[in-house]
Amino acid sequence: MRSLEQIGQELAGYDPQSLRAGMVGEFLQRLVSPVTEIETIGIFDALGRVLATDLISPISVPPHNNSAMDGYAFAGAQLVPGQPLVLQVAGTALAGKAWAGPVQPGQCLRIMTGAILPEGLDTVVAQELVSVNSDQITLAADVVRPGDNRRLLGEDLMQGQPALCKGELLAPAALGLVASLGITEVPVLRRLKVAYFSTGDEILSLGEAPREGAVYDSNRYTVFGLLTQLGCEVIDLGVVRDDPLALEAAFVHAAQQADAIITSGGVSVGEADYTKAMMKKLGDVTFWKIAMRPGRPMAVGQISRTKLASRHYLASADSSHKDNNLQAGHAVLFGLPGNPVAVMVTFLAFVRPALLRLMGARAVGTPLLKARSAETIRKKPGRTEYQRGIFSAAPDGLPTVRTTGNQGSGVLSSMVQANGLIVLQHDQGNVAVGDLVDVMLFDGVM
Ligand code: AMP
Ligand code: MG
Repeated sequence: MRSLEQIGQELAGYDPQSLRAGMVGEFLQRLVSPVTEIETIGIFDALGRVLATDLISPISVPPHNNSAMDGYAFAGAQLVPGQPLVLQVAGTALAGKAWAGPVQPGQCLRIMTGAILPEGLDTVVAQELVSVNSDQITLAADVVRPGDNRRLLGEDLMQGQPALCKGELLAPAALGLVASLGITEVPVLRRLKVAYFSTGDEILSLGEAPREGAVYDSNRYTVFGLLTQLGCEVIDLGVVRDDPLALEAAFVHAAQQADAIITSGGVSVGEADYTKAMMKKLGDVTFWKIAMRPGRPMAVGQISRTKLASRHYLASADSSHKDNNLQAGHAVLFGLPGNPVAVMVTFLAFVRPALLRLMGARAVGTPLLKARSAETIRKKPGRTEYQRGIFSAAPDGLPTVRTTGNQGSGVLSSMVQANGLIVLQHDQGNVAVGDLVDVMLFDGVM
């Protein structure tokens, strides 16, 4: 296990007290490594899972040259530019019922979409483009070129070639592709186990009576949703009081059961609570001040199962993670700030890509799109800002984006109204109407 200090030394300009948002991702990609345990499951269960090995195509798709149209198939060499062509219809080829007889020069086959193109026939003309006179068709000059409307053997997938690569996050198209190969089961990496709890004495669990100064826990529910959508197994450890024994028990319990631990609250500067102290006590943890808004404070680290076991927190170093099918070593810790919007933003910007890497996914980034700002936005250079945005298509040219109004880091309704985050980059200053800004769309992400 590499220490956080070692990782920091690899990154030029790394400063935990003033960290560029862009460097957080680089750090976390070095911190986490993919799970390795493989299970084999049926296609219907594989949605959202990560492919564990390359999937080599056992067949070619399509398995034969075939017609892309309903029409007439013939040898394209007979076409002469500028001249019509008359052909005799020798028979009919249907999808699933090939034509076995000969097709001589001067002849053609009536053919349906998907029907096998017999040897020597390389061109199909759509039925709308010919005039038919009993068993004879006439093509006007230049309505088709040799090789048109033909699907080639293996043009989708070639036998022996990788159809899908290791690390593919299996989306609906990939499920269909697997099925098109006649494959019924796929090897996938095991699901991640992620434990989560909220911290803070002022945080109420649902069902508790309201009391002055207390707020209902919303973070547990947003984090539950974000993790579930990512395909993680969520272990909900509830709300944990700001009390050393309760916090210790929660961290130990989490490390015992999960690959990653997410907490919210208690990591702010000058926070008069025990969360930070307990994180430090149980693991290799660092506290970042990220040059960003919202979400400046964040803790990251690794809680070593072996270390906990040696201190008798865990029954035994081996059994706890093996029983739970976890990797040996440690649980990764993401200590998120408490503010509800900051939780979601830091999750989307940093935790999600890190979890995707931990899941073994090849693609971990969310592509940013460009949109024209519909309003002026005040922005100080020197930090990355994530504003809640409503992104809409414009009738001409680039889409536009406007903010949802109040950008307070506790205003969770802004996350509901928004369909994306406007990402105002570190060095960027004020934004004028019509300026291009980066947008991270929620669609496909949450
Ligand atoms: P903290 O980071 O602990 O200083 O919390 C910052 C703000 O977020 C405070 O106003 C907290 O009350 C609020 N907060 C912390 N945790 C939660 C939670 N689980 N649900 C809703 N609000 C929270
Ligand atoms: Mg707090």
